[in-house]
Amino acid sequence: MDVHTATVLDRADLGPAVLLRCASIATRDAKPGQYVVIHSDVPNPEKPGQVLKRAWSFARFAADGSFELLFARVAATSGWLAERVPGDTFRFTGPWGRFLLDEGTSPVACFATDTAISPVGALVDAALAAGRPVRLWWQTEQDWLPERIVAWRAAGAVVEVGPDVTPEPDPDARWFLAGDGAAIERMTALLGSVPAERVHVERFFTPRPRA
Ligand SMILES: Cc1cc2nc3c(=O)[nH]c(=O)nc-3n(C[C@H](O)[C@H](O)[C@H](O)COP(=O)(O)OP(=O)(O)OC[C@H]3O[C@@H](n4cnc5c(N)ncnc54)[C@H](O)[C@@H]3O)c2cc1C
Repeated sequence: MDVHTATVLDRADLGPAVLLRCASIATRDAKPGQYVVIHSDVPNPEKPGQVLKRAWSFARFAADGSFELLFARVAATSGWLAERVPGDTFRFTGPWGRFLLDEGTSPVACFATDTAISPVGALVDAALAAGRPVRLWWQTEQDWLPERIVAWRAAGAVVEVGPDVTPEPDPDARWFLAGDGAAIERMTALLGSVPAERVHVERFFTPRPRA
């Protein structure tokens, strides 16, 4: 498996999350919805001789070939990534993943929790560029990416943001759900009438059940 290198170009602290703009020659064919597996410098306590590696999705692609990552500070690996500053490099494999926009023309309906707006936002950009009707429900208490919300709405997307937003099932849409595994489970149940092959899921994590 090829391990590539990326350089951090820019960073922004968004409270509990960080936005990094990065460049790598190895991501030039990456698609919206895909992710990379980043190799940190943190030793893996469970695998002697190895480092902690975790997945992060592309949040946005720029015309100059750079890409953005939007990620939550959770524990060791994300904490390490959150400390990267412009000029730093990091190693990764990928792009990976099949959370991809289809080539059809049907409406696109998206649900994301918190930083899962990362792949979902990239898919929204791609769907709007393809002229498809887009609805986005972003379940979050944060006020991240206000300029992107304005741009999505200006491009015709119907966007709802807030802690309690809930999708309205549309059996004709192509569905993309990403983020907290428990929230996705609830939303998938809600979409009961939507054929399974029209529902695409990217689970970021599954919270442990409360003891
Ligand atoms: C395909 C894929 C793409 C992903 N893309 C993104 C992305 O674009 N942005 C992003 O923020 N995350 C993304 N994630 C989640 C990201 O990989 C984890 O947040 C990361 O692994 C955390 O690593 P850690 O070592 O800091 O914490 P870990 O030690 O791996 O996790 C500690 C605990 O936190 C829980 N946890 C993990 N992530 C979160 C979270 N976001 N919120 C609350 N609890 C969490 C885990 O279930 C675990 O119990 C993605 C995950 C996958 C599988």
